[in-house]
Amino acid sequence: MFSVITTSPEQTWRVGQILGARLAAGDTVCLYGDLGAGKTSLSYGIALGLEVKEKYITSPTFTLVNEYEGRFPFYHMDLYRLSDPGELESIGFDEYIDSDGVTVIEWAERAGDELPDECFSVYLSSIDENSREIGFLVEGERYENLLTELQADLEKDRIR
Ligand code: ADP
Ligand code: MG
Repeated sequence: MFSVITTSPEQTWRVGQILGARLAAGDTVCLYGDLGAGKTSLSYGIALGLEVKEKYITSPTFTLVNEYEGRFPFYHMDLYRLSDPGELESIGFDEYIDSDGVTVIEWAERAGDELPDECFSVYLSSIDENSREIGFLVEGERYENLLTELQADLEKDRIR
């Protein structure tokens, strides 16, 4: 696990932006962490990095998924209100995952076994009011390479 600490929401956006700039068609990013940990803040940054033009990226709490257009289609999911992984079929979960878009999933654990085998997983937790630990755990060659690139980019930005 590689992790950094951010000391403001803006810095978490920046981490997301740096990651978003590296994401490519078909990537899936799984976000974990309690309410207020910064999942939506990171997603906002990812949207910036994907050059999504909409200004307001909000959690798709009631719809479960919001669609945006950036360098790739950007699918932002929030599974907080998912009561059962079986419900995922009705929102076309697999179609999003298998698409040429980038899918970011808040509360990814709620998808259970429906998650793809390989994900770029990000674990967020609150340290204090303005500090968040952001940890990255990846599997598979694609995401291992992505993490190596991200590590170098974050270091250049002096985010540690
Ligand atoms: P989640 O989607 O995990 O529930 P949000 O991103 O919606 O979290 O909310 C995070 C909250 O924490 C926001 O109110 C934000 O202003 C605040 N915050 C304070 N410090 C940070 C930080 N370093 N990174 C991200 N959010 C932070
Ligand atoms: Mg959220």
